[in-house]
Amino acid sequence: MSNRDIANPTEEHAMLREMVRDWTKEYVEPQAHQHDKAEKFNLPLMRSMGELGLLGISAPEEYGGAGMDAVACTIVHEELSASDPGFTLAYLAHSMLFVNNLAYNGNEDQKQRILPKVCSGEWIGAMAMSEPDAGTDVLGLTTSAVQQDDGTWILNGRKMWITNGCIDEEGTPADVVWVYARTGEDERGRVQLSTFLVEAGMPGYSVGQKIYDKTGMRASNTAELVFDDCVVPAENLVGEVGGSMRHMMGNLELERLTLAAMSLGIARRSLDEMNRYATDRTAFGSKIRDFGQIQRHIGESFAKYRAMRAYVYDTANNLTIGTAGQRLDSDGVKLFATTAAKEIADAAIQVLGGYGYVGEYHVERLWRDSKLLEIGGGTLESHQKNITRDLFKDGDAINR
Ligand SMILES: Cc1cc2nc3c(=O)[nH]c(=O)nc-3n(C[C@H](O)[C@H](O)[C@H](O)COP(=O)(O)OP(=O)(O)OC[C@H]3O[C@@H](n4cnc5c(N)ncnc54)[C@H](O)[C@@H]3O)c2cc1C
Repeated sequence: MSNRDIANPTEEHAMLREMVRDWTKEYVEPQAHQHDKAEKFNLPLMRSMGELGLLGISAPEEYGGAGMDAVACTIVHEELSASDPGFTLAYLAHSMLFVNNLAYNGNEDQKQRILPKVCSGEWIGAMAMSEPDAGTDVLGLTTSAVQQDDGTWILNGRKMWITNGCIDEEGTPADVVWVYARTGEDERGRVQLSTFLVEAGMPGYSVGQKIYDKTGMRASNTAELVFDDCVVPAENLVGEVGGSMRHMMGNLELERLTLAAMSLGIARRSLDEMNRYATDRTAFGSKIRDFGQIQRHIGESFAKYRAMRAYVYDTANNLTIGTAGQRLDSDGVKLFATTAAKEIADAAIQVLGGYGYVGEYHVERLWRDSKLLEIGGGTLESHQKNITRDLFKDGDAINR
């Protein structure tokens, strides 16, 4: 291994990649097509990742995590996604949106009580920000939390599109959800958001519906959650009242990086499929890879894939988990990599012709899954907006 390998900067990273790649080949790949078809989340497979130390990849070891960095998180998402982006999205919602958030923003009691359970896979976690009427416009969310005289909080509202919101076909809710709610306004009239840990069994917390018939990511469950006078104990408030924006922004950066890593896995697999097929398939007495138009699909996809890989791992190497301030690149890399993955999967379908259009050949699933990455965790338009705003504030970032 070259010490200039941006994607495997240390021996530990290279070993992690090898372990996850082997495990993915053996356990993730064989079930991917069927779970997509059945729109079913593979809960036992997810739980089994606890034994590998992957569910708490970035959580400190003292709570059952692996204590690894952003590059490690990127490696795991890339490798899993090369086989099954739908399953990887469920993994991301658990390990990045719940576990990492708690590890970096929870208090000591919350971490001691909950982290070992989510790191082992005993509990499955989710993160609930989006609502039926508010997605990009996060300050427009209306789920409310009001504190009672006895200190408990009463939550009312609905959350929409929540990955792992339910964990099976019976509508069993996630064991624990990281919920953002409105707790009032500050002295300047700005909306205050606070964060609550809502656990299965708390009165008033239920699944509204599992959302079926998604374009892609069908191996992950997406659900609507209902909070109807939901009673949450005082100790389940995370951080300060009104303090969500700070930790929300920090975690979004890691979310965007790992969504870009998922795009990278999709791109790599699509390129691999089209490259092999172009050798195997003959038409007009030649391998189709001898045709200039097929060469354009392969050549351009390869160059895009390599550019994605460099940007994804450059961002990962520079991202310190738990700190905010790397938004330009976490937005930039997701903006670039998600669309590049969709284009490469599209080129793969084109190279495979009719075969590319059916599930058995994988690439149509990767193409369907890739589309979500242009929407979830921030739409393309939100990244364009953020980048332009940040470059207005700090134009020198271009020349650094
Ligand atoms: C499969 C799936 C899984 C998801 N998982 C989760 C999850 O686990 N947790 C969670 O909280 N959410 C989740 N989401 C929600 C996702 O993050 C939102 O869908 C996304 O943020 C967009 O919000 P929206 O759908 O409300 O669209 P909107 O915000 O209503 O946007 C609609 C369109 O308007 C554009 N737009 C909005 N505002 C602006 C603006 N200021 N300038 C320019 N254009 C703008 C958008 O870019 C988009 O094109 C998931 C969504 C899906 C589909």
